[in-house]
Amino acid sequence: MKHDQSHDYFNQAKQVIPGGVNSPVRAFKSVGCEPLFIDHAAGSRIYDADNQSYIDYVGSWGPMILGHCHPKVVEAIQQAAAGGASFGAPTYKEIELANMVCEAYPNIEMVRMVSSGTEATMSAIRLARGCTGRDKILKFDGCYHGHADSLLVKAGSGAATFGVPTSPGIPADFAKYTLTATYNDLDDVKSMVAANKDEIACIIIEPIAGNMGCVPPQPGFLQGIRELCTTEGIILIIDEVMTGFRVAYGGAQERFDVRGDLVCLGKIIGGGLPVGAFGGKKELMDQLSPEGGVYQAGTLSGNPLAMSAGIATLKLLQEEGFYQQIEEKSAYLEAGLRQAATQAGVTTCLQRVGGMFCTYFCAGLVNNFNDALGSDTEAFGRYFRSMLDSGINLAPSQFEAGFMSIAHSKDDLDQTIEAAAKALAAV
Ligand SMILES: *Cc1c(COP(=O)(O)O)cnc(C)c1O
Repeated sequence: MKHDQSHDYFNQAKQVIPGGVNSPVRAFKSVGCEPLFIDHAAGSRIYDADNQSYIDYVGSWGPMILGHCHPKVVEAIQQAAAGGASFGAPTYKEIELANMVCEAYPNIEMVRMVSSGTEATMSAIRLARGCTGRDKILKFDGCYHGHADSLLVKAGSGAATFGVPTSPGIPADFAKYTLTATYNDLDDVKSMVAANKDEIACIIIEPIAGNMGCVPPQPGFLQGIRELCTTEGIILIIDEVMTGFRVAYGGAQERFDVRGDLVCLGKIIGGGLPVGAFGGKKELMDQLSPEGGVYQAGTLSGNPLAMSAGIATLKLLQEEGFYQQIEEKSAYLEAGLRQAATQAGVTTCLQRVGGMFCTYFCAGLVNNFNDALGSDTEAFGRYFRSMLDSGINLAPSQFEAGFMSIAHSKDDLDQTIEAAAKALAAV
């Protein structure tokens, strides 16, 4: 395919936007080509500036579980816009979406809306620190929780070492409060907690790690962390920004039968508009300003357009059999991709939970970030570029999940499998 218009736009964008993009991974740097500029989308497809169409498995990085431009969501946004884009005052729609969230997640008794997943995790951590009077937090290597200072930290060499910032601009003094452990390694978590007794405010975790591909929790891992948090007085923050309303209506917590003290949401609850949310037990949430002293605010929080898109989206997800259909479509694609890899004689590791999946170019299972780093990113790059050329839009990185939508037809899936067979044969 030709990408003349995208190429021209990219050159223009680089003049006025750092790297030409407003979020780094959009730049396609890790797959060795230039980004597509998108003109519009509909259903399972997106259309680039050169008017070529692609079957889309990025789905705006997760939110578009209904596919693009679902008529009911479009209508809800249009109606809301006609009634006023923002008031800076409460509206009934905020109650409606809050009620829907509380009903879906029994451990969320109260919820506060924010405008992004980053704000949700950042605020939940501040609340956890405020409630416990402790400063340290524990996260997992390879888990992404947005770009707040204390979260852009990865492990030092020893398990017990303090974190070092992975981005310039984060004071080391600040990063030292962030501990990191290995995903799916409960013993590692236990020893970190023991070494920092009564100092850790919260453990924050992706219940399925979707920002290093797709890494499911091993049986007992989340439950073990839950028990540990309860005995140690540590607040468990389950970051369901990606998995919430994705792998089940009640998210990964429903699927794996585990409950956080605080929960972060985003992506799907905004139906494609900028939204995040964090919620949990009333006794914790009551510590937030104006009831309590932990400050948190937002000019556009609970924005009427975003609330309307979220409400319309969640209503459609409640339809009988919705998640069953997502599961069937995803299982069909998984089987096809596996077969294509076998036929091509390429070693891949396909991991999937519901409508999120990743094809790693490595042998064996991927259980943590180190395993993920063992995959052949050059091979992924070749696969990605061939898929794109065949009209399949995957996330432009080995360390991202693919997302299924309800709008993907059997034809779309067959085309994808056919393209994968061709791409894998040449990898
Ligand atoms: C996307 C994501 C975030 C950040 O959300 P933004 O809206 O991009 O700020 C946080 N946590 C997880 C698990 C995510 O997938």
